[in-house]
Amino acid sequence: MTVLDGKKTAQDLKEEIKTTVSEIKKSGQRPPHLAAILVGNDGASLTYVGSKVRSCEYVGFDSTLIRLDESTTEEILLDKIEELNQDDQLDGYIVQLPLPKNIDEEKILLAIDPKKDVDGFHPSNFGRMALEMDSFIPATPYGIMELLERYKIETSGKHCVVVGRSHIVGRPISILMSQKGPAGNATVTVAHSRTQNLTSLTKNADIIVMALGIPEYLTAEMIKEGATIIDVGITRVADENHPKGYVIKGDVAYDEVAAKAAAITPVPGGVGPMTIAMLLKNTLLAFQRKN
Ligand code: NDP
Repeated sequence: MTVLDGKKTAQDLKEEIKTTVSEIKKSGQRPPHLAAILVGNDGASLTYVGSKVRSCEYVGFDSTLIRLDESTTEEILLDKIEELNQDDQLDGYIVQLPLPKNIDEEKILLAIDPKKDVDGFHPSNFGRMALEMDSFIPATPYGIMELLERYKIETSGKHCVVVGRSHIVGRPISILMSQKGPAGNATVTVAHSRTQNLTSLTKNADIIVMALGIPEYLTAEMIKEGATIIDVGITRVADENHPKGYVIKGDVAYDEVAAKAAAITPVPGGVGPMTIAMLLKNTLLAFQRKN
């Protein structure tokens, strides 16, 4: 059984990006620059943004964290976005989700300049991705593709079941894995909350991508021997024995599924670290396209 080590692969990727950045600096250019907008004080969002900023520093990018308080209006946020769109010294930026309820996420998403949309959530990037044109691929599915490719998991002609159809994970990974190219050419089935008899699908799958957000949902009896399992889920589960008061669980009952699978991503240390590394890769790409 192979553990698809996202932590190590993400570290490899960061080293590659770091080398490229030091060559950029040596040539006299400024380094790539990523900004992140965080509205409010949500604990998980603070953790995510913090590790994105630290990763930028590690590879030598410039980074800017813009913190706005919980009471920020949609107009103020839209003004900030316009400012970032116009900033020539900035290659890409993200608006950390979720946003407070008084702000229309769709409106914000549409205001981001697609050329700086390194999260790949703008409809222009999503459409371009679906049409196999140059785009920014959302970091989580991009990270899964990279992991499959680097571990040489055969996807061509294989049956892949994706559980979840969100715009940021399930839907894009289902598109990418069915396209031509590396980690693609799979026959993909997309399952969701209305799917009937999920086990009949997963039991016949060569590859299963779990992206629903229900801890330990996929059990050993739902998979066939030798399947590849990608666990995207990240859920904080209360645990008073842990200093933080919670533990992170994936969507897969890891121990029993790992015993039957050929390859599996752990949680933590699987898809999560890859997501951050691919955000850096998209920022480098934004810089390279601009220059
Ligand atoms: P969403 O809540 O947006 O989507 C969940 C999907 O799962 C929906 O399509 C839903 O179906 C489907 N679903 C829910 N219950 C079932 C069920 N019983 N059977 C089959 N399908 C079901 O979640 P996200 O895609 O945003 O995230 C999924 C998980 O991945 C979360 O735990 C999240 O924290 C994690 N995540 C991890 C990332 C990482 O970097 N590792 C990045 C992003 C997310 P329906 O459409 O019918 O409602």
